Amino acid sequence: MNATTNTHEIAVLGAGYTGMMAAVRLARRTRKLNVRITLVNPSERFTERLRMHQVAAGQELADHRIPDLLAGSGVVFHRAAAIALDAAARVVTLDDGGALHYDTLIYALGSHTDTTAVPGADDHAWTLDDPRRARRFSQRLTEIAAAAGTVTVVGGGLTGIEAATEIAEAHPGLTVTLIGAAEPGNMMGDKARAHLERALDRLRIVRRTGAQVAKVLPDAVRLTTGELIASDLTLWTAGVTVSPLAGQVGIAVDERGRIITDTTLRSVSHPEILPIGDAAAIRMPFGVLHGTCQSGIPTAAYTADALARRLRGKTVRAFRFGYFHQPVSLGRKDAVIQFTNADDTPRRWYLKGRAAVAYKEMVSASPVPTYKLSKHVTMQAQLSNGGRATRALA
Ligand SMILES: Cc1cc2nc3c(=O)[nH]c(=O)nc-3n(C[C@H](O)[C@H](O)[C@H](O)COP(=O)(O)OP(=O)(O)OC[C@H]3O[C@@H](n4cnc5c(N)ncnc54)[C@H](O)[C@@H]3O)c2cc1C
Repeated sequence: MNATTNTHEIAVLGAGYTGMMAAVRLARRTRKLNVRITLVNPSERFTERLRMHQVAAGQELADHRIPDLLAGSGVVFHRAAAIALDAAARVVTLDDGGALHYDTLIYALGSHTDTTAVPGADDHAWTLDDPRRARRFSQRLTEIAAAAGTVTVVGGGLTGIEAATEIAEAHPGLTVTLIGAAEPGNMMGDKARAHLERALDRLRIVRRTGAQVAKVLPDAVRLTTGELIASDLTLWTAGVTVSPLAGQVGIAVDERGRIITDTTLRSVSHPEILPIGDAAAIRMPFGVLHGTCQSGIPTAAYTADALARRLRGKTVRAFRFGYFHQPVSLGRKDAVIQFTNADDTPRRWYLKGRAAVAYKEMVSASPVPTYKLSKHVTMQAQLSNGGRATRALA
């Protein structure tokens, strides 16, 4: 608390999908209170991480500037990266030499691809973490496609599938290989998975299911069996990790470095720290949430609402969340949406083809207009309770 002005200082670290949501929604909810909200991010540009595979395949995205998105909200934007945290003194050190004091810290640093598990991945494989790197990858892709070269996508999860299909559709002359421990789409129902398989066949994507990469070389990928797969360009999508910032200073984190929360999404060791999105380890009756926007944005909306209530001296209900879909693009002309139970297991319903493309586009495009709307309207949507209720599972 600022002793002279009595202002409650709120720092939001990270202006990705969840940090943006928390900041604008909280500003709206606290406009009659004496608070200052400072949002910290290394870049002025809002990164649409949901679309990084599109950038990697050579598409241009809309240029969303964070200061423009915040205009009129009252949120102060500070362009910098957080490099250290003093949880006892409640101070964040920034890479521009600045220091930010907080009474409440919303921790929204997201996650990034883990390239440390396999030798050579860090040196020779590309990732979808940074838009500038993704753009350079797309330029290399164009050069390699001209010579009918080879591309390997490591990781058979949804990000790997989306990247492989986008690349194969944009560059039909390339040989694209998708390597994954499990069958692509193994979390989907039979019909959705069959559609996915047909799309992978149509795009002539070679699948190496059950294969494990032992080493990434400059021009190949070596499997644990010793087999070499030629690869002019290797894209790594297998596994994510989080910033070590919280774990380094004694904040309680799980085995992956994510901050462990209580039922109202406060750090169990430091209740003034509110982790959201990929950086948080949030337990539901069916398990710990995995990093998606689908769950991350509700954690941000809930945290904004819960903090605003606490600042008014009101009580807060526990966070509840249930998954409802697995949306997967298969290039620009196809997609598959598997609808799910709250615990992410597949239901009977799914969408494919044009309807799925439109659905997926609506999902990917929705965060930016939601931020704009949240500045002006107090939204009472289900979001604040965390998406679909999990009462049946509780
Ligand atoms: C290619 C791809 C496709 C995806 N598709 C889907 C999908 O279809 N559906 C879905 O639900 N999820 C999808 N995801 C996952 C989704 O993108 C993440 O779950 C989501 O971005 C998490 O939001 P976040 O706010 O926690 O993190 P992010 O959106 O990653 O934001 C983190 C922010 O913190 C900033 N930051 C990092 N370090 C610092 C620092 N030290 N100081 C200050 N700021 C910092 C970053 O620059 C970034 O702006 C996809 C991911 C990828 C890579």
